[in-house]
Amino acid sequence: MIQGTLFDIKQYAIHDGPGIRTTLFFKGCPLHCWWCHNPEGISPDRELTFKPNRCLDDCSLCLTSCPESALSKPDGRIRVDQDRCRVLGKCAEACPTEALEVVGQSWTVDEVMREIRKDRIFYERSGGGVTFSGGEPLQQAEFLTALLEECKKDGLHTVIDTSGHAPFGRLDSIRDKVDLFFYDLKHMDPEKHREMTGVSNELILDNLSRLSETGSRIQIRVPLVPGVNDKVGHTRRMAEFLASLPGIRDISLLPYHNMGSQKYKNLNVSYSDPDTEPPSKDTVAGIREVLEDQGFRVRIGG
Ligand code: SF4
Ligand code: SF4
Repeated sequence: MIQGTLFDIKQYAIHDGPGIRTTLFFKGCPLHCWWCHNPEGISPDRELTFKPNRCLDDCSLCLTSCPESALSKPDGRIRVDQDRCRVLGKCAEACPTEALEVVGQSWTVDEVMREIRKDRIFYERSGGGVTFSGGEPLQQAEFLTALLEECKKDGLHTVIDTSGHAPFGRLDSIRDKVDLFFYDLKHMDPEKHREMTGVSNELILDNLSRLSETGSRIQIRVPLVPGVNDKVGHTRRMAEFLASLPGIRDISLLPYHNMGSQKYKNLNVSYSDPDTEPPSKDTVAGIREVLEDQGFRVRIGG
């Protein structure tokens, strides 16, 4: 039986493609973008998160429930001994306030499809469907392919939001089941890309070129991050590259925000640049103008 790991299923999503959609968040990503809004999607493994504002002062239920004795509460805040924790989830089951939660559940294809089918009427009325996001859906290729096949049997519209960092064969083998690719582009310089995300951009750009030649429908998504890719010169370079590819006309600019920073704290992971401010309206407008001058249709946001 084919299974996969998701860290969330979002119903009634209205920013993840056309119409009303169900968005599946796949756990595991080959990149580590420091601005990632979904840090719980980066590791492929189950993780324990702790929301301190939900924790009760006079409670210690989780401490006694853990068979590995991995938890302590030395200063009124739960500490997790990472060497002992096996993410069994007993503490989360015992917690009355959901201050402790396990992120990442294993799902079968049938179980996911049951969730998807609940909202079929909304997809039909709104022109919506299913969006595969993450994390990186291509990291769980067998699970992804099986879900796409089931969606297509049901006549559902499908969108994949991808970093493009995977062997091209994975993209090629699913493209006939994908109505729209959301393809993320972060930086045109390989070394800068590696510095910011942990991997070079060469495979990503090469895959985009090859995918565009297949006639697949592609919308480019650019997370606009101050100090990373918010300069006009860099945008010109990106626009020239995209203009050289067949069929690419739509670009979404996604201005950086730091609303995901609390998630890093909950996961006990440090957030690289908590002081970065969102790009100004003028910066976003300037980048938009460069892209529109090259003939692209540009929208701000998802
Ligand atoms: S069980 Fe929940 S509320 Fe109680 S101490 Fe643990 S985390 Fe806090
Ligand atoms: S590619 Fe997307 S999901 Fe992966 S680390 Fe970067 S922002 Fe996060």
